[in-house]
Amino acid sequence: MSIDATSVKVAVRIRPLADYEISKGCKTIIDVIPENEQIIVNNTKPFTFNYVFDAQSTQEEFYNCCVKDTIENLFQGYNMTILAYGQTGSGKTYSMGTAYKGEGDTGVIPRAISDIFNHIQDNFAIDFTVQVSFIELYQEVLYDLLSGKPRDQCVLDIREDTQKGIHIPNMTEIQVTSANEVLEILSRGSAGRATASTNMNSQSSRSHAILTVTITMQSKDDPANIKTAKLHLVDLAGSERPKKTGAVGNTFKEGVNINKGLMVLGNVISCLGDEKNKSTFVPYRDSNLTRLLKDSLGGNSITLMIACVSPADYNHDETLSTLRYADRAKKIKNKPVVNQD
Ligand code: ADP
Repeated sequence: MSIDATSVKVAVRIRPLADYEISKGCKTIIDVIPENEQIIVNNTKPFTFNYVFDAQSTQEEFYNCCVKDTIENLFQGYNMTILAYGQTGSGKTYSMGTAYKGEGDTGVIPRAISDIFNHIQDNFAIDFTVQVSFIELYQEVLYDLLSGKPRDQCVLDIREDTQKGIHIPNMTEIQVTSANEVLEILSRGSAGRATASTNMNSQSSRSHAILTVTITMQSKDDPANIKTAKLHLVDLAGSERPKKTGAVGNTFKEGVNINKGLMVLGNVISCLGDEKNKSTFVPYRDSNLTRLLKDSLGGNSITLMIACVSPADYNHDETLSTLRYADRAKKIKNKPVVNQD
C-alpha cells in the first residue's frame, strides 16, 4: 500500500440550491476548481481536498471517483470507514444512500454493497462470510437498529478492554449472502432512526448511524489463512448549531447533545491533524461517538470523509465550519494493517 493511502481522504460535495434557499433569494457563494480539487468560498483563499464535486455531479460519478477502487482494499484484509459530515440538509444521507428505499439514484452504500457481492461471486478460491450490524447513537445512547425489539430494549453498552479493544456486546449481527439482504436490512434499520422536523429538512436525522459490514475470508487451499475486514459506513448527525434549525424544546436539547459528540469529534480531529502537537493524548473517551470511531481516525482503517455543503450565502457560516473541519481531517494519518489470523 502506498504511504498516501494512510492519510484520511476528504471528498467535498456541494449540493444544488435547495427550494428553501431559492425561495429566500439565496445566492451561490462557492466556486469549484476541479482540476486543482479546490473550493473557493466568497472569493477568499481556496481550500484544497483530495476530491471536490460540484452541484452537477451525479451519484455514479461521485462513487466511481472516490469510493469504487478503494473497496478492493477490504479483500486484502484492511478495514475501511466512510463517514459523512455536514449540516442538516447538506446531502449526507443522499450521498451515503443511508435512507435506502429501493428506488431512485442511489448513494455510496448500495453501490459499495453491490460491488462487494460482485467481488465475492467472482472469487472461487475463498470462503466468504459476511455479517451486518446497524447501530444508532442518539444523545450519547447507543441503540441496536436490528434487534427487532421495542426501542427501550435496544440499548447497547460500549465496552473497552485490552484484548478486544472497543466492542459492543449483544449487538445484533446478521449473516447475509446477497446485496439485497443487506439493502433490506439498511432499509429496515433506517426506518427506525430517530428523526424530527426542523426548519431545514423535515427528514433531518439528528442521530449518528453506523452500518458495519464484516467480511471474513478463509482460503479454500489453506484454511488456516483467514483474513477479516470491517467496512464502517457512518452518517453523522447535522453539524449546525441548534439556533440555525429553529429547533425548540426537546429538539433543542438534542441539538446540544449531538453537538457535544461532534464537538469531541472536532477536538479529536484537531489533535490528530495538528502536525505540531507532539502529545499522544487524544480525547477519544470524551464521547461515545469518538470511542466508536477510534480506529477510523488515527487507527487501523482506510478512511474517507465525505464533507457535504450547501452552496448558498445563507449557510455561509456552516459551510466554512464544515470546510475547516474537513481541512483538519485530511491531515490525519491512519495506520491500516492487514487483519490476518
Ligand atoms: P442531510 O442528510 O445532510 O440532512 P439530505 O441528504 O437529506 O441531507 O439532503 C437534503 C436534500 O437535498 C434532499 O432532498 C436531497 O435529495 C437533496 N440533495 C442533497 N445532495 C444532493 C445532490 N448532490 N444532488 C441533488 N440533490 C441533493
